[in-house]
Amino acid sequence: MKIVLLGMAGSGKGTQASMLSEKYGVPHISMGDLLREEVKSDSPIGQKIKEIINAGRLVPDELTVNILKGRLSRSDCSKGFILDGFPRNVPQAEMLGKKFDAAILLELDDSIAVKRLSGRRQCRECGKIYPQGNKCSACGGPLYQRDDDTPDAIKKRLEIFHNDTKPLIAYYKKEGILKTIDASQAVDAVFSNIRNALE
Ligand SMILES: [Zn+2]
Repeated sequence: MKIVLLGMAGSGKGTQASMLSEKYGVPHISMGDLLREEVKSDSPIGQKIKEIINAGRLVPDELTVNILKGRLSRSDCSKGFILDGFPRNVPQAEMLGKKFDAAILLELDDSIAVKRLSGRRQCRECGKIYPQGNKCSACGGPLYQRDDDTPDAIKKRLEIFHNDTKPLIAYYKKEGILKTIDASQAVDAVFSNIRNALE
């Protein structure tokens, strides 16, 4: 079961990826987590990534793809994986060169995404993200609104997402593996629709 999840911020992509991972017994590979782990490990590649990020630049695709390929070649991925956060555009998909069984698009109206994201709060202490509130239920830390979760910043991110993702959606559609799911529903309803689409 090799699945790639596509969806804008606020579509619940990470949550669905975790649920699918549990259901199908294959690892949830989050590109963001992979890069963070690499930096944390302080490996030579990790140090390089840290420098790039600290300089405010984007991690080059070639580096990202190499890290991801390494992760996907590990034995726990032999039965499949749920890929979340990569590829974000067609050149990245081509560079990765992986065949998936399904590309799941979590579709959401921009207005709903803006509403969800602008209410979002993150814990200052442990980094956990909540849909609302002011105190972290995990560690008791204070919650705050991230700079990139203001309405203007969100609109900018959605615009970039649409520009990059439209060709990617067409790409997977052409391959015959695209499944489009309405992500405006409750988490459990979205999950059951994904499962139905995969069967
Ligand atoms: Zn916390």
